[in-house]
Amino acid sequence: MRGVWVLSFADVLLLLACAAFIMGLKQMGRKQSAKRGNRISSLGMMAAVAGALFQAETNLILIVSIAAAGTAVGVALAIRVRMTSMPELVAIFNGLGGLASLSVGFIGLLPGSDPNSVAHAMSAASIVIGGIAFSGSLVAYAKLAGHIGVASVTFPLQLTFNFAMLVVAVAAGAWATLGDAAAVHAIVLVAASLILGVLGVVRIGGGDMPVVIALLNSYSGVAAALAGTAIESPALIVAGTLVGASGFMLTRVMCKAMNRSLSNVLFGGFGAASASSGSQQPTGNVTPVSVEDAYLMLEAARSVVFVPGYGMAVAKAQHAVHELSQLLIANGCDVRFVIHPVAGRMPGHMNVLLAEAGVDYDLLRELGEFNESMHLTDVAVVIGANDVVNPDARDNPTSPLYGMPIVNVDMARCTIVIKRGMGHGFAGVDNALFTLPRTRMLFGDARSSVAKINEQFVA
Ligand code: NDP
Repeated sequence: MRGVWVLSFADVLLLLACAAFIMGLKQMGRKQSAKRGNRISSLGMMAAVAGALFQAETNLILIVSIAAAGTAVGVALAIRVRMTSMPELVAIFNGLGGLASLSVGFIGLLPGSDPNSVAHAMSAASIVIGGIAFSGSLVAYAKLAGHIGVASVTFPLQLTFNFAMLVVAVAAGAWATLGDAAAVHAIVLVAASLILGVLGVVRIGGGDMPVVIALLNSYSGVAAALAGTAIESPALIVAGTLVGASGFMLTRVMCKAMNRSLSNVLFGGFGAASASSGSQQPTGNVTPVSVEDAYLMLEAARSVVFVPGYGMAVAKAQHAVHELSQLLIANGCDVRFVIHPVAGRMPGHMNVLLAEAGVDYDLLRELGEFNESMHLTDVAVVIGANDVVNPDARDNPTSPLYGMPIVNVDMARCTIVIKRGMGHGFAGVDNALFTLPRTRMLFGDARSSVAKINEQFVA
């Protein structure tokens, strides 16, 4: 019997799932408990799926078979994915979340569905937001994976066209809410939302992608919460609201890191193709340095700051960097790490890698806090970072990165940049740092270069 006072087994499972989601998220807020939080949340998701299966009134075998197929694909992807491709995987997962909500909303608008107008309104909203999250995430995936250019793509009257699409979606949603359910409403909503997602994300250029990725994550949560309201699933509402709210908070953090307002990122069209195209070779001369000379500079330094970037992830150099930091500390050097909030390709990317390598969190410094004392640092070592140390973001109003706070490594007494060549960063712009008189370029793969410096220390 199901009722207000008597909970079925499925209700208990769903209640446990909600509690696990909230507890898991709380635990993820601290490094020490983050793994436990992840496990608790996974168990919660398992309980939610089991609860939904117990409640299902349709063909259980069909549902279990589809869930098993999805699980197999998810496990295979998670096992095979390289650490450097994690951001693309996260973008795909965001998109699939949006697609799932879109599908629930679509079914909710078909003839024979719940005639309740609130359910119709929620279904329409979950189609729009889920569709934007789905198609927008596919574009984000393509940009992250390098399948399409990262520069902002804009065309005349683009914002007017986007606004027209939004009006079409709202009109179709109102029509579905006030009238009878019909497939045509759902189809118009799906088409408008997919177009909105693609056009919304293609206009966001290079460096601003972290904001849009966090925002799409938030959209996928909001869409799930709306779909949960449409089908009266408290577990889906709770999970969706948590993802939506935490994604929105992350979006705010990322906006702050980029020193941009959200409207500026979404409508500004920063990083348009014409602005970001530059030659592979910045004007001016670079000063290469050998491993031996880099070692001598570091051996003599009393204070060193490491600034990791995406190249460290590509090279899997975090363990070698940790070892170098230990060798420097043993040599009496004051060592710090400064992590830019958008370094790498996903929020917290560098923190995860350094934590995995065992770097002590006490050595990490905030960007603003450290920048003030950068001029007192003997050597700044840039490990596979580029955009986050580009002085043009601070000094050049024509740069697509202009306004983004950077790690001021150019203000250290000396800077060693470790990268393979003169390749651009994600934003695709030249970096004036590489040609400054106090910059030394140590060309080569980050892991092998740092390992060779370490060998010099122990020789
Ligand atoms: P960048 O993408 O600016 O630069 C990475 C550099 O690493 C490249 O210039 C490359 O130069 C070098 N590199 C690549 N492989 C290696 C290797 N094996 N060894 C040594 N160096 C290597 O990285 P940053 O971390 O500085 O900046 C992150 C960028 O990504 C920002 O523009 C940010 O906005 C964007 N972004 C961030 C997201 C996030 O959430 N954190 C999400 C999406 C985008 P070379 O080829 O010469 O070696």
